[in-house]
Amino acid sequence: MPFRLANVAGRAALVDEQDRWYDLESRGGPSDPMAALEQPALLAGLSAGLDGEGAAGHLAEAELRAPVPRPRNVFGVGLNYRTHAEESNMEPPSTPLVFTKFPSCIGGPNDDVVLATETGDWEVELVVVIGQGGKDIARSEVWDRIVGLTVGQDISDRALQFAASPPHFDLGKSRDTYGPIGPVVVSTDSFSDPADLAISCSINGDIKQDDRTTSLLFGVEELVSYLSAVMTLRCGDLIFTGTPAGVGAASGTYLRPGDVIESTIQGIGSMVNRCR
Ligand code: ZN
Repeated sequence: MPFRLANVAGRAALVDEQDRWYDLESRGGPSDPMAALEQPALLAGLSAGLDGEGAAGHLAEAELRAPVPRPRNVFGVGLNYRTHAEESNMEPPSTPLVFTKFPSCIGGPNDDVVLATETGDWEVELVVVIGQGGKDIARSEVWDRIVGLTVGQDISDRALQFAASPPHFDLGKSRDTYGPIGPVVVSTDSFSDPADLAISCSINGDIKQDDRTTSLLFGVEELVSYLSAVMTLRCGDLIFTGTPAGVGAASGTYLRPGDVIESTIQGIGSMVNRCR
């Protein structure tokens, strides 16, 4: 049974098909979104009964925060679309190129991105939210160990990213506010095919990135299996799976104060983040 989980003003909320939201605790679940992610069966069961009665409001008017507010680990994957590797003048990697986004960079789906320098860049990404997790997860079991998918922006300070040699991707992608996620976590059984989703990003209404997640060089199954061979994955860990072609660095265009970043994935929704 599908469900969508949001974080409204710090409290877990379920969202129905008409985008109405319901406080989870008032329905018998935990109020903390992190605790809610550990109970997908409860979320699915409660979602089946949502009929508008007791709805607290509409998602479009809600004070949305990061649906996974306190991830323990946040992984990033570099150069994971062939077209993006090409525009970056890099060889597509033969092994997943993994880096850390420090969890302190995570923000909400409508939060401002506070630009620290003049080389801030956009990267729309599919974000995997680990559920049951575990160690040494076989590819065939991966979708059962994920609680859902969400949208993310791997905002990157290119000057900082390449300030050291070899580059320190982790710092360049971890400035405060450089990791908005949301608007909701969508259970994997909500999609006809969770591995084939349209993904796009526009800046001030101009489409910059437009692809499908089938173009991932290392797909969700490979990434989760690969990471879980190294360490135990736990509920709420996030994997930013990489960005398609069309980032600003490829054309020398960077984010400026006032720019509006809209990031969309089919079946999940859109984030709108303003730069300042
Ligand atoms: Zn990225």
